[in-house]
Amino acid sequence: MAIRTNRQIQLAARPIGLPKVSDFKLVEVPVSSPGIGQILTRTIYLSLDPYMRGRMSAGRSYAKPVEVGEVMTGGTVSQVIESNLGEYTPGDFVLGINGWQEYALSDGANTTKLDPRQAPISTAVGVLGMPGMSAHLGLLEIGKPKPGETVVVSAASGAVGAVVGQIAKIKGCRVVGIAGATKKCEYVTTELGFDACVSHLDDNFTKELKAMCPNGVDIYFDNVGGKVLDAVFPLLNDYARVPVCGGIANFNMTELPVGPNLVPRLMARILVRRLTLRGFIVFDHDDRREGFLKDVGGWVRSGQLKYKEHITDGLENAVSAFQGLFSGENFGKLLVKVSDDPTRS
Ligand code: NDP
Repeated sequence: MAIRTNRQIQLAARPIGLPKVSDFKLVEVPVSSPGIGQILTRTIYLSLDPYMRGRMSAGRSYAKPVEVGEVMTGGTVSQVIESNLGEYTPGDFVLGINGWQEYALSDGANTTKLDPRQAPISTAVGVLGMPGMSAHLGLLEIGKPKPGETVVVSAASGAVGAVVGQIAKIKGCRVVGIAGATKKCEYVTTELGFDACVSHLDDNFTKELKAMCPNGVDIYFDNVGGKVLDAVFPLLNDYARVPVCGGIANFNMTELPVGPNLVPRLMARILVRRLTLRGFIVFDHDDRREGFLKDVGGWVRSGQLKYKEHITDGLENAVSAFQGLFSGENFGKLLVKVSDDPTRS
C-alpha cells in the first residue's frame, strides 16, 4: 500500500478579528491508498471564499464550524489518482469539498465528475460553481430584475458580483457596480459592460453613487454590508429588492459599532418604501443548479458572460491569499493552484 505525504492546513486557533497566520497550521500527514469504495484524489485547485471566515468561528450559523485541529474546509477541483470506486477511474477530474490539502480520500459523497471538454475545470468552483450560482439565484429569485431597472452590486469585480452585474445587463437593466481599486472599476465597465462603477474607497463615494443612480435603485445585491450598504439604502426606490448575499465588511468585526440605535429608522424605511430584504444561502438551493448551469453555462460559452480568476500558486500561500480577500487584494475569483493542472498547458 503506497503511503504519500499529504500537506494540509488546519485551523490552529479561533481568530479574533482578521485571521492571523498563527490561526492556521501547515502540517504533513501520511495518506494511504484508497480502501474499498474509496478514491484518492490530488487537489489541483482550492477555492478560497469569504464564507470560510465564518466557519473558523464557533457559534450558531447555517453550517457546522471547523474544529480546532481540523483541516480547513473548502471546495476543490481534483484529479483521481487511485480508485476503488466503480464509477471513477484514475485521471478523472472531480469537484469536491476536500479542504485545504494536497490529497484526499473520499467515498464519493459530495463528489461530482467534471468534463474538461465542457468548460475549464477551475470554473467548477467559480463562475459555474458556488459563487456563480449565488449570483444567479440571488438576482433572479430575490431581485427579480425587470428591463430598465437600476441594479447596484457591491464587490462588483469579484466572483459573485461580476456575475450578478452581467446577468442584470443581459436582463436589460442599468447596472452600477461598487468596487475598491480603480483597476477593478475600470474592468467592470470596460470589460464586463456595467454602465458605471463607483469606488467605495473614494472620499466622495456616497455622492458619486447617488449621481450614478439618477432614478434611484430598484435592486441592491449586497455582498459587503457596512458603509456601502449605508450609502445605498437611502437610494432604494419603493418596492426595491435587496438580496442579502454577504457582509464581508463585517466578517472580522469584534464588537458592534458604537452610536445611536438605527434599527427603528431602518424598519420605518423598510415599511414606508415597501422594501424586500431577503437573505439566502446558496447551499440550500441545489434544485436550482440545473437551471443555473443551463443559463450561465450558455452565456459563458457564447461569450456573453466573462469571468476572471485570481490564481495563487502553492498551498503554502493559501493563508495570505485568504487574508487578502478582506482587503480586496484578489481581483477575480480567488483560487489556489495546489498542483499542476494537466488540462492547461
Ligand atoms: P470576492 O471575490 O468579491 O472577494 C471579496 C471582495 O470583497 C474583495 O475583493 C473586496 O472587493 C470586497 N471587500 C472586502 N472587504 C470589504 C469591505 N470592508 N468593504 C467593501 N468591500 C470589501 O468574494 P465573493 O464574490 O466570493 O463573495 C462576495 C460576497 O458574497 C461575500 O460576502 C460572501 O460571503 C458572499 N457569498 C454568499 C453566498 C451565499 O450563499 N449567501 C455564497 C457565496 C458568497 P473590493 O476590492 O472591490 O472592495
